[in-house]
Amino acid sequence: MNRPYTIATLGSHSALQILKGAHDEGFRTLVVTSRDTERLYRSYKFIDELIVVDRFSEFPKLLPQLEAQNVIIVPHGSFVAYLSLDEHKKMTIPYFGNKAVLDWEASRELQREWLSRAGLTLPRQFKSGAEIDRPVIIKLYGAAGGKGYMFIRDAHDFETRAGHLKEKYVIQEYIIGVPLYIHYFYSPLDGSLEIMSMDRRYETNVDSLGRIPAAAQEGLDVSPSYVVVGNSPVSLRESMLAEALRMGDDVLRVSKEICGEKGLFGAFCIETIITPDMQFYVMEISARIVAGTNPFINGSAYSYLNYSEPMSTGRRIAREIKLAIETNRLSDVLDDTSIIR
Ligand code: AMP
Ligand code: AMP
Repeated sequence: MNRPYTIATLGSHSALQILKGAHDEGFRTLVVTSRDTERLYRSYKFIDELIVVDRFSEFPKLLPQLEAQNVIIVPHGSFVAYLSLDEHKKMTIPYFGNKAVLDWEASRELQREWLSRAGLTLPRQFKSGAEIDRPVIIKLYGAAGGKGYMFIRDAHDFETRAGHLKEKYVIQEYIIGVPLYIHYFYSPLDGSLEIMSMDRRYETNVDSLGRIPAAAQEGLDVSPSYVVVGNSPVSLRESMLAEALRMGDDVLRVSKEICGEKGLFGAFCIETIITPDMQFYVMEISARIVAGTNPFINGSAYSYLNYSEPMSTGRRIAREIKLAIETNRLSDVLDDTSIIR
């Protein structure tokens, strides 16, 4: 590379994967950490520089300093969790990805419109408790990582347990099936879509309820919660892979209609539940690297089909940035607000 660029991110979520990938592709690396996690990130040799802050919300104050160091930001879930949409849009530091997808992702209504326009099958949504005719899941707006979700059996259960809720929420049909999170990478440089890996989440306590017999659960005051604590790898029946790839294509096609010419690019994830009739129900889309890619820091079975070397999603991002720099196309992989020095 003719100019030394530094790849930087916030210290949490998938930072280790992103920075290891950046290091392996020859970049300098920088992490912004809190005091609690400083010790962790300092222990890895592939991280060249740490900036310690009291709170991640202080990140915007660091921007002049980062800009002076030729930093390219690779965002992950914590950026969305800790910085506002407004703060995202105001940043002019080089930013991997298209910020226009943030509006479509942040609003549950717009996200649903995007996914329906892509022709994907979505769980039914109910406008009010009175309409409920099957088990549902209540999702509070802004709930992160499944926290604050409630399983509701029927309209009566809704009245007793959710009728009083003051926050905004959606009532969604509860799909009984296998949750599968599919991780994709779309290259704006050569227009190719790759399946990088897949995971299932390990959620507390819903994933442990099966360990207590139903009869013993009766009378216990325990209801399922969906708080994610980790992720494990999955490989999909090969006959279902074509549909997984098609869903990725469909989401990308619509993104070019709604998020400007560049559309969605880089890493993204479609979150599904698969029912016994092999139908993919789509719960959500995440328009960047997801933490479910972390089991694959050393590559996955799927990434090995495309690369005969360990290729995590984090490394794939760095590879794309490197290829863009080498071919003088850096602006093609950055948001349009990015000022390249
Ligand atoms: P954190 O940096 O751990 O506070 O997480 C930032 C956001 O990413 C939150 O919305 C988390 O719920 C989500 N997240 C973090 N780790 C995981 C994971 N392993 N799987 C899925 N989502 C996660
Ligand atoms: P999400 O925040 O949409 O990724 O959902 C977090 C977790 O809630 C998922 O991993 C599922 O366990 C559960 N979940 C979300 N939506 C549904 C649904 N419609 N039916 C069944 N489970 C769901």
